[in-house]
Amino acid sequence: QAKQRGGNQCCFYTKEIDESLSRKLQLENGLRKALERDEIEVYYQPQVDTFSERITGFEALARWNHPELGFIRPDEFIPMAEDTKLIVPLGEKVLLEACHQFSRWLAAGYNLDRIGVNLSAIQFRDPSITATVSHVLKETNIRPEHLELELTETIVQDSKEAIPVMQHLKGMGVQLALDDFGTGYSSLSYLKDFPLDTIKVDKSFIDAIHQSEKDRAVVDTLIRLAAKLEMNVIAEGVETESQLNYLRIHGCTEYQGYVFSAPLKKGEAGKLLEKGIDW
Ligand code: C2E
Ligand code: MG
Ligand code: MG
Ligand code: MG
Repeated sequence: QAKQRGGNQCCFYTKEIDESLSRKLQLENGLRKALERDEIEVYYQPQVDTFSERITGFEALARWNHPELGFIRPDEFIPMAEDTKLIVPLGEKVLLEACHQFSRWLAAGYNLDRIGVNLSAIQFRDPSITATVSHVLKETNIRPEHLELELTETIVQDSKEAIPVMQHLKGMGVQLALDDFGTGYSSLSYLKDFPLDTIKVDKSFIDAIHQSEKDRAVVDTLIRLAAKLEMNVIAEGVETESQLNYLRIHGCTEYQGYVFSAPLKKGEAGKLLEKGIDW
């Protein structure tokens, strides 16, 4: 255990700094091995359509099951993977595994529209991205329309570079979503200038629905704007029935959030598909 090795040898740093530094080093050093040892696991969070009352798809979310530290959230290790460029093989692994799983669910007869997979800006800028996607689609035998790549504003901002890649992916038939919409420096022009199929409204707006009239105004307008632009809207991070009710009244039909389910291991996700969502 870390404690035994670390012991009381340290005298230059406070214990807290020492611990957070050694955790960071431990994680950074472990990430490459984690890939080799298959410690990266894919979790699946259902996306629910309240109009047709079914699970329409899942978002694939990476988890690192560290042998000593337990499960590590992506917010902690994705930035490290980006710094070291390990995000490229890591992202490819998540993409391949998620598409494989999706293909098994389709083969089992479930009627699903999409598997959502997050792409980091580093992956998106990597010249191999389109070849990787097309390879994975072939390998897993799913139709390109079933794959929805989730892009963030950092990707889209760099429009000179991004547009040709987005167009290439669209040309292959892949769906594109703009993730965390409304955070950072989102611009409405993204919605009209880029070939996007879906807007994912960021959780921060959903959180504020019952507190802030301004946030409500933004959310209502986004839902209507998306409809006019013929895009799907997914409300992210919906936690309560009352948030859900508000959004339903205002015309939103697709949701992803704890009110329906947290991200699940593939087996649990399969069970949820089997039994369906309780209404
Ligand atoms: P994201 O793509 O916006 O994913 C949604 C995040 O919100 C997930 O966090 C999910 O667990 C969380 N979430 C969903 N519903 C709720 C809710 O009702 N309440 C709360 N409090 N949280 C909810 P997670 O899995 O920790 O992932 C965080 C971020 O890490 C993701 O945000 C995504 O940007 C990134 N990420 C995860 N997996 C990957 C991956 O394979 N590749 C890349 N590039 N990024 C990833
Ligand atoms: Mg996402
Ligand atoms: Mg998001
Ligand atoms: Mg996020």
